[in-house]
Amino acid sequence: MAKKLKLGNRDSIWFHENSGKVNVEYAKNVCDVAILPIGAIEQHGPHCPCGSDTFNAIGIAEKVAEKSGAMLLPSPMYGSHPYMHWGMEGTIPLKYETHIALLEDIIRGAAVAGYNKFIIISAHGQVSSTIVAVHKLGLEGYFTLASTWYDFLRDNKNVLEDYMWHADEAETSLALHLYPELVDMDLAVEGGGTPLLDSKWKIAPGEGTAPGSMYHFEGTFALLEKDDLDEGVIGNPKKATAEKGEKLVSAAVNYYAELIEEIKEKYKCGVNPLGFRNPASYAGTNNIQYDNDHDEKGRLKK
Ligand SMILES: [Zn+2]
Repeated sequence: MAKKLKLGNRDSIWFHENSGKVNVEYAKNVCDVAILPIGAIEQHGPHCPCGSDTFNAIGIAEKVAEKSGAMLLPSPMYGSHPYMHWGMEGTIPLKYETHIALLEDIIRGAAVAGYNKFIIISAHGQVSSTIVAVHKLGLEGYFTLASTWYDFLRDNKNVLEDYMWHADEAETSLALHLYPELVDMDLAVEGGGTPLLDSKWKIAPGEGTAPGSMYHFEGTFALLEKDDLDEGVIGNPKKATAEKGEKLVSAAVNYYAELIEEIKEKYKCGVNPLGFRNPASYAGTNNIQYDNDHDEKGRLKK
């Protein structure tokens, strides 16, 4: 008798909570879009947990998966970091090369189960690896979109007083909305950072673009955090509320769900938008010819 599934055609929105067979059937018959939430293990001031960015990505991605029907891939927890994060206590950075390879392997592996469209939802400043990974995966025929929720939203100022930086009004609001039990607002302190150049040259996370300004990852705009930040905070977390977090999350979730709806509409289940697949590590297994001592499934003949 066929197994009764709890959640329509899947047991869970999470890939790792379903059996392999359920994940394969789901990609084949229901939805072959997969979401990968990524964040970082990084200190977030005295008041927020080191997993904040990963928890933020997971919190948003869970709601997107519920709303859109996309499958949710397990989050790798760790992320890559710009140079100024290195050496900061409480932060465990992956090198860009490590992170790029990690993202590539996860997408390749999920594709084996039949997933054809991939949305990476990041909650940490790591475009230096996600953009490279997306284009390397493109060469292998994997349709992958990577975005950082606050840059995707680009209207933080409708909700927030300040532009987003780190462990601040924005990130703490998400934390208060998504995992208040891990936040201690009694310990929240306003933080700073020494700007190397006037802030007009630099686009803050979530800020709209303007002439004569660079994305903050396009330059060495900041001093090493371990020496420059006393509390590991840039911005004012005291301005954070759960209500602001709820507004930011639901706005981001709606945009992601709309994006996935268009992908599902335009490229039906089973269709790879790129039309080819040339994976670095799996292609060979499709063409294996077993020798005469083995049967067609590679089992030693009696
Ligand atoms: Zn963060």
